[in-house]
Amino acid sequence: MLVLDGSNKIGKKILMSGGGRCNFTNLHIGPECYLSANPHFCISALQRYNQWDFIALVEKHRIPYHERKHGELFCNDSASDILAMLVAECEQARVRIQTHCEIQSITATGHDGQRFVIRTGKGEFSAQSLVVATGGLSIPTMGASGLGYDIARQFNLPVLPTRAGLVPFMFTDAFKAVCDRLSGVAVDVVLSTAQQAFSETVLFTHRGLSGPAALQLSNYWFPGQPVVINLLPGLDLLPWLRQQKKDHPRALLRTQLAPLLPKSLVQELQALLWPARAETALAEFPDAALQGIADGLAHWTVKPSGTEGYRTAEVTLGGVDTQALSSRTMESKTQPGLYFIGEVVDVTGHLGGFNFQWAWSSGHAAGQCA
Ligand SMILES: Cc1cc2nc3c(=O)[nH]c(=O)nc-3n(C[C@H](O)[C@H](O)[C@H](O)COP(=O)(O)OP(=O)(O)OC[C@H]3O[C@@H](n4cnc5c(N)ncnc54)[C@H](O)[C@@H]3O)c2cc1C
Repeated sequence: MLVLDGSNKIGKKILMSGGGRCNFTNLHIGPECYLSANPHFCISALQRYNQWDFIALVEKHRIPYHERKHGELFCNDSASDILAMLVAECEQARVRIQTHCEIQSITATGHDGQRFVIRTGKGEFSAQSLVVATGGLSIPTMGASGLGYDIARQFNLPVLPTRAGLVPFMFTDAFKAVCDRLSGVAVDVVLSTAQQAFSETVLFTHRGLSGPAALQLSNYWFPGQPVVINLLPGLDLLPWLRQQKKDHPRALLRTQLAPLLPKSLVQELQALLWPARAETALAEFPDAALQGIADGLAHWTVKPSGTEGYRTAEVTLGGVDTQALSSRTMESKTQPGLYFIGEVVDVTGHLGGFNFQWAWSSGHAAGQCA
């Protein structure tokens, strides 16, 4: 078995993942955490090589790891432990790895013995089975290319439109200046579109919104859609505001919000929601004003102009249409010996180790037969 990689080093995305500690899987893997035109496609592979199988491999290699929130598993030391483990497994299985090997073209020979000829910058190779694991379009500087989609089209497999996923939102309207002023502030919120909501941390940046909540929601967001921020999801806001008015009639609203939200954020909210009452005691707030403020805090509606795109996206949504592949083996239904695995396939996970688990599971499924 031979692995051809155009990059100077294999596994670059593993090394840069999880802030250098690789979020290699999740304890709560399930099909509901994946997006695909066929949401059932991923089930078979995820069941036959699941998170426990990968954890067993990590433990066999004595790699120390820990659980963070939402069942996310990370290396204690370094993502390079995972890469070293995979290289060791390859060595044991006598897999040869050839780097600096840009693939130029693939030809199907028509013979059953050696079905494919692969032309590369390092010469020609022939193979009976060809597993395409070229990833998506995200982070072009890490070797991402559209090669996998081109190979699919060459063999008449449909490719669904691609877009950047797990990616920060950008703004061009007045909210951009708010984000810029709040750059570095993180808050636990519920971030939602009309279809999907995530209860997570959002991070204001000088370009817009990032952090887990924004990255998760970006997978479900389409251009033109508004995004709603609930800044205090744990509070029933109108009764809470009324109670504050009753208990602290001489206090300012910003003082009462100070223990709940970062000070700089409260200042921005004051300028947006109660600018004329910034110095007014709570007792003077009419109930209608409290209602407006409660709505503003629970439904802060903003309209992204776009996302940061493939430059910073962690994944690519869309890709090789699963209709054209066997869900058991990842083999093309029409071109014997041709397999597609990982991110190039139209299966994209949530943030939290789901994308690596799909890469491991789909790779295992193909590995059983290729
Ligand atoms: C910054 C970042 C952090 C991430 N963190 C996490 C995380 O913590 N947990 C998680 O689950 N997921 C994470 N992901 C997503 C995860 O990295 C991918 O889903 C996963 O790497 C996909 O694996 P793959 O094998 O399909 O593709 P890739 O890992 O992208 O590998 C594709 C390989 O194909 C090679 N290639 C491409 N084109 C050619 C060509 N023309 N010729 C030869 N070789 C070529 C590339 O050099 C590369 O080595 C992260 C992604 C990024 C960008």
